[in-house]
Amino acid sequence: MLKDLFMGLSQNQFLNNAAKKYGLKLGAQSVVAGTNIEEVMKSIKELNAQGISCTVDNLGEFVFKEEEATEAKDQIIKVIEAIHQNNVDAHISLKPTQLGLDIEYSFCLNNLREIVDKANQYGIFVNIDMEDTGHLQATFDVLDDLSLEYDNVGTVIQAYLLRADEYLEKYKNYRLRIVKGAYKEPDEYAYQDKKEIDRNFVKLIEWHLLNGKFTSIATHDHNIINHVKAFVKKNNIPNDKYEFQMLYGFRKEMQLELAKEGYNFCTYVPFGNDWYGYFMRRLAERPQNLNLVAKQVFNKKTNTIIGVAAGAFLLGRMTNANKKKRK
Ligand SMILES: Cc1cc2nc3c(=O)[nH]c(=O)nc-3n(C[C@H](O)[C@H](O)[C@H](O)COP(=O)(O)OP(=O)(O)OC[C@H]3O[C@@H](n4cnc5c(N)ncnc54)[C@H](O)[C@@H]3O)c2cc1C
Repeated sequence: MLKDLFMGLSQNQFLNNAAKKYGLKLGAQSVVAGTNIEEVMKSIKELNAQGISCTVDNLGEFVFKEEEATEAKDQIIKVIEAIHQNNVDAHISLKPTQLGLDIEYSFCLNNLREIVDKANQYGIFVNIDMEDTGHLQATFDVLDDLSLEYDNVGTVIQAYLLRADEYLEKYKNYRLRIVKGAYKEPDEYAYQDKKEIDRNFVKLIEWHLLNGKFTSIATHDHNIINHVKAFVKKNNIPNDKYEFQMLYGFRKEMQLELAKEGYNFCTYVPFGNDWYGYFMRRLAERPQNLNLVAKQVFNKKTNTIIGVAAGAFLLGRMTNANKKKRK
């Protein structure tokens, strides 16, 4: 029920626009590293000082206007310049729908080409995040096209996909992030059962560690992390073949602990004004994250937005407005 509530809220355009105006609220500031490049650079430097590298996400997705996609592209290029100028240990994560995948394929590809080209000049890697299955093939196509010119790109394999092992084998020579998968997908494309997803996740990680180029194991799941630790030890997988990744603000102690233990660790650092959808999806993923919201609501009495949000969601359900399912 809560999961559905936050999934629904994450798609609410009105609230998304309102959130952009009001800055980081509802506890989002603990999982979003600021709204501008200066703030995100400060967070990256703090993480780097603790032995943690970063992948930076200029928040935004499902853009349908060319000027917004161009603005996002320009901003990401500024982030790349800032990474270079500040000499921080960081790379880029981006979403093709933020760069115009829903507008026109070649427009999006050109935006990505500009970004990847700039990053390539500075030896910076660009990860293309994987969104819902409606964008899956086009995202692989973008990766294929970019790979004709560049080798500083990679993507994400979602373990909930029935065809994940096929994709993994095809892209095994790329730097790949492996995740459980965050979008709501139908039975015909994805496993629904948590145990089945976890089983497939472990299978894919093990396979890529043995056969792939470089594996980013992106999870907050301590059971899986412990399993991977034992697996790499048993199979003598060298440290430079893999890393662990978690999202900014989540399981901070475990992030530090893994870095201190000598594992390569990379934090996914989102920033920007377009935080609302990202934040709602984190609440949908793990309703316990409501703790973040509760602290703000009770400390600062900022419950207006969440009240409006819940009301708008319920209204949306009543009018059956939210038809498309998304992560
Ligand atoms: C760096 C990164 C990048 C990602 N990129 C993508 C992407 O491109 N595309 C995509 O579809 N998805 C992406 N995801 C999201 C991913 O698919 C999952 O939806 C998300 O990570 C939740 O799954 P989980 O593996 O973390 O563990 P879950 O299945 O959510 O949790 C498993 C167990 O871990 C423990 N746990 C989890 N979180 C916490 C916490 N905060 N505190 C304490 N215990 C906790 C709990 O015991 C829980 O039962 C990304 C995730 C990360 C970390």
